[in-house]
Amino acid sequence: MIPSRTVGRFLFGSGVFSQLEERLKERREALDGPVMFFVDNWFRGKELERAIPLREGDALFWVDATDEPTTEGIDVFAAMARAMAQPCAVVAVGGGCTLDSAKATANLLTNPGAAEDYQGWDLVRCPAPYKIGVPTLSGTGAEASRTCVMSNARKGLKLGMNSQYTVYDELVLDPDLTATVARDQYFHTGMDTYIHCVESLAGAYRNALADAWSREALRLCEEVFESADMMSDEAREKMMVASFLGGSAIGNSLVGLVHPFSAGLSMVFHTHHCVGNCIALRALAEFYPEAAEAQERFLRKQNASVPVGLTRDAGPEIFDALYKSTIIHEKPLSNALGSDFRQILTPGRVAEIFGRM
Ligand code: NAD
Ligand code: ZN
Repeated sequence: MIPSRTVGRFLFGSGVFSQLEERLKERREALDGPVMFFVDNWFRGKELERAIPLREGDALFWVDATDEPTTEGIDVFAAMARAMAQPCAVVAVGGGCTLDSAKATANLLTNPGAAEDYQGWDLVRCPAPYKIGVPTLSGTGAEASRTCVMSNARKGLKLGMNSQYTVYDELVLDPDLTATVARDQYFHTGMDTYIHCVESLAGAYRNALADAWSREALRLCEEVFESADMMSDEAREKMMVASFLGGSAIGNSLVGLVHPFSAGLSMVFHTHHCVGNCIALRALAEFYPEAAEAQERFLRKQNASVPVGLTRDAGPEIFDALYKSTIIHEKPLSNALGSDFRQILTPGRVAEIFGRM
């Protein structure tokens, strides 16, 4: 068994982003080579762009989060990054798409081949360059997890480079950075942590460490979504902690039914991960009644919304594709329903559930 690894160093609190330059000084002194920044495109031309401690010779890659990362897109980043000298540090500033793009590209800087060669468990051989993660959106736990999710159109799968080397070496957790996120986006991504934890605590494969992280993350999410404003300074700080704990938990446990159904939506309709989870949770209320009810309560309280009517015009071929891309997720489905999950999730039952979306 490969031992689990977690993030080694942290800065946490309002305003700590301004200390990034200082943190990088240490890296620049330790090793020759540029810093490679991966920054969410949303920040282009914004105040944060000017605050990036970019020096001559460094690289700045803008990450477009319109679509979630693909193996092809990562190969493009890797080709550009490989053309430069080995970096003294890789820094990601953004949401899950940006954090994952930097993780995947960093692995390809010390390991030959293409992104898809490392989709799976413990395939990365050599440690990546030193990585610093700066999340600007809380919930996916990508800042803490040992994976970086990429879709691979050629193989028809969505899978990360699950490896101890994928984990960030250091995090700069500054809740000020999440203040500008759109409300619905903030809700959906925050709910990702909530849903991870609900699924993992309801599953059969458990361990006490992951349970403890999950329970605390869940408690924090509830405090945030039950508060008067989920985006107050205090709430954004709590959500950042919940995301980190949820991400730590998920590396050591399994999700359940919501993620496979959300993955189905993602493969067929290109629905983004977090909003897909919210849509799926609503349709899976018979399996997670308390969580589904809580989500509706949170939505009302926070004046946020989850789209409806996704499958309104879908025909049999679409439902067939949805079934296939859901049922392949054997591990989480058996975590939730046991090894004979196919007897419960018949094609008819799955179509009925998707029909509610
Ligand atoms: P995202 O990266 O997809 O970004 C969503 C939107 O928010 C984008 O338009 C982005 O530009 C914008 N945004 C980000 N920060 C902002 C800010 N501070 N102000 C204004 N706008 C901002 O969002 P996400 O939900 O964090 O990430 C989703 C991705 O994470 C998916 O690709 C999913 O597969 C992945 N994921 C990874 C893990 C993991 O463990 N690695 C776990 C769950 C999900
Ligand atoms: Zn998730």
